[in-house]
Amino acid sequence: MDSLTLDLDKGLQQLLARTLGNENRIVYPLTRRASIKDIIESLHIPHTEVGAIVLNGAEKPFHHIPAAGEHLVLYSFPAGTDVTRPTVLRPEPLTACTFMVDINVGKLARLLRMAGIDTRYDPQQSEADLALHAVADNRILLSRNRDLLRRKIITWAHLVRAEQPEEQLLEVITLFGLQEMIRPFSRCLECNTMLEPVRKSAILHRLEPLTRKYYHIFRRCPDCDRIYWQGSHQQHMGETMEQVLSTMHKE
Ligand SMILES: [Zn+2]
Repeated sequence: MDSLTLDLDKGLQQLLARTLGNENRIVYPLTRRASIKDIIESLHIPHTEVGAIVLNGAEKPFHHIPAAGEHLVLYSFPAGTDVTRPTVLRPEPLTACTFMVDINVGKLARLLRMAGIDTRYDPQQSEADLALHAVADNRILLSRNRDLLRRKIITWAHLVRAEQPEEQLLEVITLFGLQEMIRPFSRCLECNTMLEPVRKSAILHRLEPLTRKYYHIFRRCPDCDRIYWQGSHQQHMGETMEQVLSTMHKE
């Protein structure tokens, strides 16, 4: 029977259906005329996870239809992927690295906002709306739901691998090279709006006695009116960020 050979890098091997095992080479039976995108998804790998498809040293687009005997190498996204750079698979890059978070990684939304990274999260949205809004808003969709990421309209997404929210934050920061973009205490954790400085005297009446006594630098969300201070809350943010950054330095 006609077949083609697919080599998968480590990041993609992890996503293979269990029945195929963790093989780095797959001999794929060519029983029908299919695009490489269809073939990849028949292996249960969302197209969003593939960063490059290479045939004899040349990159191929998703609509490439492999011929019998072809030997293709499939690569996942490397650490530090720059989404503002065009590639063969994604010729229209994003202008900025912003995110839309699915409910199955909901806690990640708050952590990304803690880091000051623009992150939209609306747990009430249906799967279809989530996909539509991510695309309309030019946001990278973060999810653990493979079926969602397989949707045709989605170009930019990431199947989150880690299970713990802090590890997920680290995974996203490392993958998209966001280390330099981290700005704790800059964004509202509840609604994603950029915080504005506010004078202590203007909000004094809203502060608990101890907060009033010990903290002096405050910011306010112009949208939902929440007040943040460089205090206990900020300290928690700082610890999480410190953890994330120290893990990075070790690598
Ligand atoms: Zn807010």
